[in-house]
Amino acid sequence: MNPPAIAIDGPAASGKSTVAKLIARELGYTFINTGAMYRAVTWYALQQGINPSDTAAVKELLKSIPLSFGKNGSVSTVMCNGKVLDEELTLAEVNDNVSAIAAIPEVRALLVTKQREYNTTEPVVMEGRDIGTVVFPDTPFKYFVTASEEVRAARRAAQGLTDSIAERDRKDSARACAPLTVAADATVVDTSELTIEQVVEKIVTDIKNRI
Ligand code: C5P
Repeated sequence: MNPPAIAIDGPAASGKSTVAKLIARELGYTFINTGAMYRAVTWYALQQGINPSDTAAVKELLKSIPLSFGKNGSVSTVMCNGKVLDEELTLAEVNDNVSAIAAIPEVRALLVTKQREYNTTEPVVMEGRDIGTVVFPDTPFKYFVTASEEVRAARRAAQGLTDSIAERDRKDSARACAPLTVAADATVVDTSELTIEQVVEKIVTDIKNRI
């Protein structure tokens, strides 16, 4: 049996990354940011001049993609030819194209395999869109972290970012393969009226009561 896996899903700018990182720290688990993995494939495809809508070209690219997925301390990292990717992952063109890349089933299959590998040796807090529905459907610890559209847009603006999160959510929810959706057995946490500390405490308390 694998170590515990905590699934944190939710729409863009719901605060799930911040919350997931703090929950991981509190529990002493490894934090895995799966959005960074989809962003890395997108960034690399764009670097290679591939049109993200050209599914055949993206599939071909996957055969020799020089990305690797590791850790820095207890936080996941993505590397390209051994270099850790950082600012590249939040470029405007990556924001605009990541949903198209993430809709390709072969991309998802590759990354889901990598995501599950982390959990074979260590407990994880993993955040994304399909962690509770696809990556760890059997985990009893599933949280869907959300907030009103106004609150999410304001949080995004406060980060100095202006990408269209509503458009990204629409695409992520509409795709055929592993769409953004609430797992039937997930606990929905609306963070609109809560501080980060309150959200973390709520989820950590629930986990500790059940683990
Ligand atoms: O979490 P983040 O906003 O960085 O994710 C970027 C994009 O990656 C999402 O909009 C979605 O298209 C894709 N994604 C996904 N499944 C995940 C994590 C992210 O499809 N588990």
